[in-house]
Amino acid sequence: DPRLQAISQAIRVVPHFPKPGIMFQDITTLLLDHKAFKDTVDIFVDRYRDMGISVVAGVEARGFMFGPSIALAIGAKFVPLRKPRKLPGEVISEAYVLEYGTDCLEMHVGAVQTGERALVIDDLVATGGTLSAAIRLLGTMQA
Ligand code: 5GP
Repeated sequence: DPRLQAISQAIRVVPHFPKPGIMFQDITTLLLDHKAFKDTVDIFVDRYRDMGISVVAGVEARGFMFGPSIALAIGAKFVPLRKPRKLPGEVISEAYVLEYGTDCLEMHVGAVQTGERALVIDDLVATGGTLSAAIRLLGTMQA
């Protein structure tokens, strides 16, 4: 896809952030570039439209920057998967392991119905731990 190179170049790499040795991929510079931002959303929309997806679940926080645009374009609802104690209603939680310690994602009970098809959006996959937790969280709704 000829758009991918420009998208890649629009992502700033910040060495040693937030700690030594990490090459942080900063997508805020992508958001400043209208064409690269739109192309990013369009690539996901083209890939996932007409697949019967009724839920786009965005992982806090950077999944919130891309997920809603994709949801609107493919005709799906948007469900935020949030860090602990942010959602006011009844939640289900899924813990996951970080490099040091654990974290947790939460979703409102009732946001997703059994049998719905969901697309999970985040900005970056490293170990895949966050994405796996998001998938498990949505999977509990299939029970
Ligand atoms: P994982 O759980 O796959 O190890 O880490 C992915 C999660 O950490 C994502 O939610 C992502 O936003 C965040 N993350 C890890 N490294 C980076 C990075 O270099 N840049 C950005 N933007 N997010 C990162």
